[in-house]
This record gives sequence, C-alpha cells and structure tokens, in this order.
Amino acid sequence: MVNPRLIFVVSEALRFLVNAELTGSFGGLTPADQQLKSLAKILREIMALREIIILPDKQLRLVSKPIEKVTTEIRKLADDMFETMYDAPGIGLAAIQIAQPLRLITMDLAKRDEDGESQPRPRVFINPEIVSSSEETSVYEEGCLSIPEYYEEVERPAQVRIRFTDLDGKVHEEDADGLFATCIQHEIDHLNGVLFVDYLSKLKRDRVLKKFTKAAKRAAE
Ligand code: ZN
Repeated sequence: MVNPRLIFVVSEALRFLVNAELTGSFGGLTPADQQLKSLAKILREIMALREIIILPDKQLRLVSKPIEKVTTEIRKLADDMFETMYDAPGIGLAAIQIAQPLRLITMDLAKRDEDGESQPRPRVFINPEIVSSSEETSVYEEGCLSIPEYYEEVERPAQVRIRFTDLDGKVHEEDADGLFATCIQHEIDHLNGVLFVDYLSKLKRDRVLKKFTKAAKRAAE
C-alpha cells in the first residue's frame, strides 16, 4: 500500500506547482524554473477537473483578489471551472470554490426544455460588482456546491445592476432579475468570503456548520 503521507505530500506539491504556474509566480530565470514551469503546465492541463472545497474549509472565507488582466491562464481557469461546475453539477461557481482566490465566476442558467434537453449557456463574470440593488426582495431556495445537499430559503434584492469584465477584457453593465439576480449575488458573496448560510438564523447556521465540521473530521480519520 502507498503511504498516505506520501500521497499528501505529493498532492500538496502538485497543487503548489499548479497554483504557482497559474499566478505566474515562476521567475523563469534558471533552466530548473523553466522545467518546473512546463511541468506545471502539463499537470494543469491534465487536472482540468478541480476539487471543490467544502465547508468548513477556511479558504471559503477569503476575500478574492481582482483580476488585473485576462490572460490565457485566466481563460484556462474559467474552462476548468466550467468543467468542474457542469460535472458537479451546479449552475454557478466562484473561483475560490476551487481554492483560487480570484474574482472570477462561471455560471450557466440554461433552462431545460420539455425533453429535458438544454443548450449550454456558459457565462463568465470577471471582477463582478453590484452597482445598485432594488428595494424589492425575493426569496429563493439556495444551495451551494461547497455546502452539498443543504438547501434553505434566502431573501435578497429581487433586481440588481451589475458591472463585470468579460473574457475579452470588455466591461459591461447589465440588469439581473429572477434566478440570475439571486445567483450572481450568491456568487459575488463568495468573492467576499460570504456564504448563503450567513443569512440564516444563528441556530440554523450553527447546526449546518457543526454537521459539516463533523463530516470533515470523519473524512480525515
Ligand atoms: Zn455557493
């Protein structure tokens, strides 16, 4: 049997390599740097499906950093996020949910037709912000890929105006309502380290946190 500590060290090293490549941390000065960089690139391509981090992982509370430039690395990250999101399956994903603290969101709210078929409608939001919100509110039952199989009703502004950058680096403003308004608010919350359970009563929030903390401990044993 393979030593579990060896698996841990190797997977941490791989994650470090991939993250360093993604954030451009390699100086690329020495041949060893260059070799590490190309190795990390291959690894990242193999690892298109990323692991979704789950409550109570503390990274979910990080405030994500703005993306200064839409690079090929950012496009690749968005691709990976779509693959991960569709695989889960989910309708929205923030980069921090795959442990990348960057202000990047993927979403697909395509409705299914009568045959249960749906045309994919992938959308990417870079550095999204809420410009204004309506006084009117609406209530949706929300769930989260980082809090699996837990759903609760949350009240939020029914309409919001958002500003965001697309994958071509263009800035847009757009009005959102219905499920789109709820979903974009939920995902922007992730970029600020906020989870939908934060809107619930303390009693409910403590209960769900306890449940997931216990499950994480069991999984680590
Ligand atoms: Zn979520």
